[in-house]
Amino acid sequence: MTGKSKSFPLSLSSIGDKSSKAVAAKSLALTRIVATPQTATQNAAQNGMRTGSQIAAVNRAAQALQDLERPTPLVSGGVRKAMVARVAKQGVKDAKVLAAMETVPRHLFIESAFASQAYIDASLPIGHHQTISQPYIVARMIEVMRDNSQGGVLNKVLEIGTGCGYQAAVLSLVAKEVYSIERIKPLHELAKANLRPLRIANIRLHYGDGMLGFPQVAPFDGIILAAAGLEVPQALLDQMTVGGRLVAPVGSRHQVLQLIERISRYEWTTTTLEDCHFVPLRPGTAG
Ligand code: SAH
Repeated sequence: MTGKSKSFPLSLSSIGDKSSKAVAAKSLALTRIVATPQTATQNAAQNGMRTGSQIAAVNRAAQALQDLERPTPLVSGGVRKAMVARVAKQGVKDAKVLAAMETVPRHLFIESAFASQAYIDASLPIGHHQTISQPYIVARMIEVMRDNSQGGVLNKVLEIGTGCGYQAAVLSLVAKEVYSIERIKPLHELAKANLRPLRIANIRLHYGDGMLGFPQVAPFDGIILAAAGLEVPQALLDQMTVGGRLVAPVGSRHQVLQLIERISRYEWTTTTLEDCHFVPLRPGTAG
């Protein structure tokens, strides 16, 4: 450990600048995750094949992300616990989701000017007129997606709208493989930079139009849209497994959270859950 990292846990006010962000990131990287699982998953994704040992490697890496907080209480662990308690109070019950929210250091995904607000229950600007979603809605969407007939097991999950990468990090702790698409190139790069120090082996980020889904990797047993369209694109419905669950905000000024389940090859059911507020889903890409 360096002299600097002995000062953990850092106060929220001290995580404002890049250098302390780097220190925090460095402490996360102190885990013993090595390149091997990453390489294995990469190969698996490229070949479209997964072996048992590759999945086990992915799981080990995700576990390591959880483990690394236990021996060394991380930056603002207490504040994050309080955030999770508030999310639970708002009705999220899934213990695995709450644990994942407690593990992921949200402040590392937020630019310095807003870092002190990282653990309040609000969406915050991430640039390019986009926002990091509020913690409650991140947790709620994942809880709904996990409530499947497989007891919450999720093999392959797709997120549309990576933004800063926060929700992808939370998803990595509840799904075996996470694919996340972002249409704004600088945000795709930002997410890569935010996630790199966390060394999460089972996330694949993709720059492109998420409205087209990710046919090379489909089908998915879970899909989450982090941006609201007037309807859910048919391409995404087609890329769900039978039994798969898609959670999406739908609408323009008035938006509702919808759960769409694929019940057979040609049938989907839609359940409207609650009001919500998201940035718009837009077609195409932006450099
Ligand atoms: N998942 C993020 C939320 C990001 S906000 C979080 O963890 O907080 C929603 C994101 O969706 C924005 O970055 C926006 O650029 C992106 N988006 C909108 N339409 C899209 C599309 N068609 N394909 C991919 N990303 C899209």
